[in-house]
Amino acid sequence: MESFAFSTTSSLQSRFFVKSLQPPRSISAVRSPSIQIRRRRSSSFSALALHRSDHDVVVVGAGIIGLTIARHLLLNSDLSVAVTDARVPCSGATGAGQGYIWMVHKAPGTDTWDLAVRSKDLWEELAADVEREGYDPAEILGWKKTGSLLIGRSREEQAMLQERVKVLSEAGLRAQYLPSNLLHLEEPELEVGTEGGAAFVPDDCQLDAYKTVSFIEKVNSTYCLKGRYAEFFNDPAVCLLRSDKNGAVEAVQTSNHTLYARKAVVVATGAWTGSLLQNLVKPNSAPQLPVRPRKGHLLVLENFRNIRLNHGLMEVGYIDHQTTTTLSDINLEASESDQELSISMTATQDVMGNLVLGSSRQFCGFSREIDESIVECIWNRAGEFFPNLKSVSLDSSLNQQVRIGHRPYLPDGKPVIGPIPDTPNVFLAAGHEGSGLSLALATAEMVSDMILGNPTNVDPMPFSIHGRFSSNL
Ligand SMILES: Cc1cc2nc3c(=O)[nH]c(=O)nc-3n(C[C@H](O)[C@H](O)[C@H](O)COP(=O)(O)OP(=O)(O)OC[C@H]3O[C@@H](n4cnc5c(N)ncnc54)[C@H](O)[C@@H]3O)c2cc1C
Repeated sequence: MESFAFSTTSSLQSRFFVKSLQPPRSISAVRSPSIQIRRRRSSSFSALALHRSDHDVVVVGAGIIGLTIARHLLLNSDLSVAVTDARVPCSGATGAGQGYIWMVHKAPGTDTWDLAVRSKDLWEELAADVEREGYDPAEILGWKKTGSLLIGRSREEQAMLQERVKVLSEAGLRAQYLPSNLLHLEEPELEVGTEGGAAFVPDDCQLDAYKTVSFIEKVNSTYCLKGRYAEFFNDPAVCLLRSDKNGAVEAVQTSNHTLYARKAVVVATGAWTGSLLQNLVKPNSAPQLPVRPRKGHLLVLENFRNIRLNHGLMEVGYIDHQTTTTLSDINLEASESDQELSISMTATQDVMGNLVLGSSRQFCGFSREIDESIVECIWNRAGEFFPNLKSVSLDSSLNQQVRIGHRPYLPDGKPVIGPIPDTPNVFLAAGHEGSGLSLALATAEMVSDMILGNPTNVDPMPFSIHGRFSSNL
């Protein structure tokens, strides 16, 4: 059973306000420099070695993956951990995440199924622990157990959803097919026509990414006083340093610090991981990790009262959009202008009463610009499912916010979790695309177990980089 450490509400709150998360500093594109291996006493870094600190594990990247790995190690071992980020938590994909921790759109029997099941269990345990400590998980994590609906509007989709319910039930989940009349009782404002219906998974949950990250960071920070935790933000990793004696990676060089790692380095830099690795192992023989940033827009309407949702909703087309293999995967040299925009309707209401509408997917590099035409498409798509929205115009009278994030996309649709070939003390945890929030806690557990030499709860083989992409051993 996992536990977390904090004492009183007031100490929690004061920590919250002292260390509250800053929003991303700028909306300009963040391009991280490639990590390069340097010899330890290379002259260009000798001055920086003054800012040396020593840790057991150094985690590069403070998104949901990096922060939960740090958390798991702090709670389940005696190791000390440092986390470094080019910016601040939530400035990557995590800050754009809609927050669904859902099984309804995942497929039993796939490589990620067991990881998703384990992760969902761990999220539920975490929410229960928060409650046991006398706190409200809704307030602390934005936690809601509303169930999820995967929605279809045609006969073919109906058949597909009925089959999905069967498969999910056989895999041990509570799942039910709702034809349009029953669906109407669950979601009176949703319109799917007479041929529509939905797969309903009542135990699916959602969280708020900002609240959850803030909580995890606060828990991690309680270990600062014990000398077991340190954070280095706005301090990008620029290279890894190798020992002169045996060539093993022994430190992460950031812009301002040399962070020595006695036991392991974890690279959890989401969509930036591919370029970071370019010069990682040896010149010209870096592991190929074809992670691509898959940009997403999310529309948040603050305190929106025109419709009320009882569950989280997703249109069935989302599944294809999530997994599409693109021409550019076949030819990685293809132009970035090959944007392949797709939009599928997702709708949730968060604990603050905001309506959160998603989402778009496109390949267009690391641009953080808001494309108003995409926002309008998201709005119009939602209007096809919720006729009440059609009478509302998306103008400045609505209190709205658009979140942009870059999902870390890998062409075979599953993350890489595990050591780099020939560099056993450097671990990768990246490529979770649209499921990083859902999969975070089981990913963190797996990485921690690998570092600690424990047996893993879920089979790690499907997530190894070995043999997955060209030129990897
Ligand atoms: C619109 C949208 C909606 C989504 N909705 C959901 C959802 O509902 N449920 C779900 O499960 N998932 C969802 N996702 C996906 C999820 O957000 C991601 O899979 C997840 O956040 C990835 O986490 P990460 O930690 O790997 O990456 P990130 O959050 O991107 O973190 C990577 C970090 O690495 C840092 N970094 C980069 N370069 C360096 C460097 N050189 N040195 C140090 N640090 C560096 C970055 O600053 C960043 O903070 C959504 C994504 C988007 C875009």
